Amino acid sequence: VTDDHLCRYMLASGTVRIETVRIETAWQSIRQGRGHPPNVERLLGEMVAACALLSANLKFDGSVVLQIQGDGPVRLAVAECFADLGVRATIKVDEGTDVYPDSDDLQALVNPGGRGRCIVILDPKTRGPQRAPYQGVVPLEGTRLALAIEHYMLHSEQLETRLWLAADAERITGVLLQRLPKSGGTIATEGDASSAASADEHLEDWQRLCILTDTLTDEELLTTAPGDLINRLFWEESIRMFDPQPLRFHCTCSRQKVADMLRMLGEAELDATLAEQGKVDVKCDYCAQRFVFDAVDARSLFHGDTSLPSSRALH
Ligand SMILES: [Zn+2]
Repeated sequence: VTDDHLCRYMLASGTVRIETVRIETAWQSIRQGRGHPPNVERLLGEMVAACALLSANLKFDGSVVLQIQGDGPVRLAVAECFADLGVRATIKVDEGTDVYPDSDDLQALVNPGGRGRCIVILDPKTRGPQRAPYQGVVPLEGTRLALAIEHYMLHSEQLETRLWLAADAERITGVLLQRLPKSGGTIATEGDASSAASADEHLEDWQRLCILTDTLTDEELLTTAPGDLINRLFWEESIRMFDPQPLRFHCTCSRQKVADMLRMLGEAELDATLAEQGKVDVKCDYCAQRFVFDAVDARSLFHGDTSLPSSRALH
């Protein structure tokens, strides 16, 4: 039994959507053997939480990818969440840097030179002429990742959204609040006077829930079960809860995909590696699975038989 799950709630008035995510088991699969400093790990954890919350929120039929290209100690960080809430993530730090900033400041980690980029990619399950991946560039502003995602939701989805994200070596927690468009709510509108009153009520609901959630510390986010957090914060509210959705670690790498990638590198490049190392050894950045191609395998990539032995993956 895994504790990893995403929960969705709705304020009974239909004005605010709430999501929580807690990830422990999948987080350990993502962390395995990486050994990054706590501030780097925390950024990766927050990215995983944000990506899962976005995936559930956008209900996109495909994968949601959150990617940061940094110009500081963190060079590249990627989190991906599939439509069924399978998650994977990877982070690459500048090999030349052994001193990391103690700070958890997002700017110090990924954007000290001002050339950092954050991108949200919506990658359809089945690609086609009308189904190309969509990319939205997110300004890397503020000291925490949550601010960048809030900006993205407001400008790309026109939805006022707030996120609270926290991660440590044990677990990841995320909370999302979203103000729903008036037409999407269940507010009765009878005449102008009452709809103006409803609009005020609508805004008050949103502001009240944000103020309550703003009282949460990272410590509380990490040490309290999300269901208890919601009960504790919103005990005076009338809230509807939906069935929790399980979340798990999932990687889509395969020997076939690695073979395709090697084919694109070209035969000369592979021959050089074979001459030097006697084999081509590719490790998946997300799950650390290894795919080894010897000289015979490598030759078959370019000459003749393209069906590959599938049982050669090593761990
Ligand atoms: Zn993999």
